[in-house]
Amino acid sequence: MPAPEFQHTVGKTASFSGTALHTGDKVTLKLQPAPVDHGIKFKRKDLQDEPTIDAKIENLKTVERATTIGEGSVRVHTVEHILSALSAMGVDNAIVEMDANEPPIGDGSAQPYVDLIKKAGVTAQDEPRKFFDVREPMHVEAKTGALLVLLPDDKFRISCTQAEPNNQFTQFLSMEVTPAVFEREIAPARTFVYYEDVTPLMEKNLIKGGSLENAIVVRGDAVLSKEPLRFGDEFVRHKILDIIGDLALVGRPIRGHVVAAKPGHAANAELARSIAREQTRRSSMAAPRTIPTGDGGLDTDEVMQILPHRYPFLMVDRIINFEGDNKITGVKSVTINEPFFQGHFPGHPVMPGVMQVEAMAQVASILLYKLTKTSSRVGYFMSADGVKFRKPVFPGDTIFIHAELTRARGNRMAKTKCYCVVNDAVVSEGELMFTFLDK
Ligand SMILES: [Zn+2]
Repeated sequence: MPAPEFQHTVGKTASFSGTALHTGDKVTLKLQPAPVDHGIKFKRKDLQDEPTIDAKIENLKTVERATTIGEGSVRVHTVEHILSALSAMGVDNAIVEMDANEPPIGDGSAQPYVDLIKKAGVTAQDEPRKFFDVREPMHVEAKTGALLVLLPDDKFRISCTQAEPNNQFTQFLSMEVTPAVFEREIAPARTFVYYEDVTPLMEKNLIKGGSLENAIVVRGDAVLSKEPLRFGDEFVRHKILDIIGDLALVGRPIRGHVVAAKPGHAANAELARSIAREQTRRSSMAAPRTIPTGDGGLDTDEVMQILPHRYPFLMVDRIINFEGDNKITGVKSVTINEPFFQGHFPGHPVMPGVMQVEAMAQVASILLYKLTKTSSRVGYFMSADGVKFRKPVFPGDTIFIHAELTRARGNRMAKTKCYCVVNDAVVSEGELMFTFLDK
């Protein structure tokens, strides 16, 4: 186990001013410290009540040309470059206060934000950092041809292939993303745009702040910009910058290897969404470290007061957690003494899948019992849908059985989503339906 890494925020408030890309207005951005577990939030100082917006994928609004987040009617545009800098430089918690609806565009790179972060300083806080660890490969594919694959890795790495139509400017770069590497290799890479794409926007006055000072413009084979290219492969470096910024919307640092081909904001955001979904799924399944007693759970005797089942058909040892009225977690320790192992299979003991479904049904029944306790009706297991057996369960395994009430129609039927988990991996799952009958 590596030593725990701690969360970080900025040491003091630091600010920088510049031009907003879309409106062309002057904007001042202030980077401020924030407490642990706060994450990154944008604050609109120019609006009444100074609303804040969480830099989270749930708040993603649009991905055309730049990444826009919002809550209610409040928006913040072009957040990807500052988020990239904050994430890569290791800032977990901060308030980004602005007096406009987007940060200053600077020179079209993340360099001004890195300078700002260094001016503010980065300081450790006293809570460990919460990572997203990639356990199994994930991928997203977009109609644009973008393909992003996320592989397990104990570091945050990106391998990116950038290619334009006709394979113009095909560039490849692979690296581990650390603050030092980001500052040196990625932050200075500027935005690049196509002449044909920006001309209509300029005519419509949609990018009043746009100029050759904050973007590289590609026209045919010509590369136009105020200063020469900063790297021979500046384009792929900027693509990596955008990937880091868009994935920062996951809200926690990633330990994994992103392999990207022709990435764009839409595909990046789609991957961020898949990661966030997986994180939610995992959090809902995390087993508590201590076994609660009393109101927090039920011991074997209490379980048997609710369920009519008895050994060997009692498939739950105890209930370790109720969460609100609709979630429950039970535990079953599987030993070689289980009678089903004698015949399933001799010399090769594997727990039958149907016994896992039975375990789910018993745990879900306890949840329903809690719901109907005061009524005169009782829930009966009626059917199962989408049952999948993902991994074998062996003697010695401890199964955490999770059930969540997903639908209840009056006092007549209930639907539950159930998972059996061993060593943090789902071994089986299914949707179980119950009907209520009079006692
Ligand atoms: Zn960008």
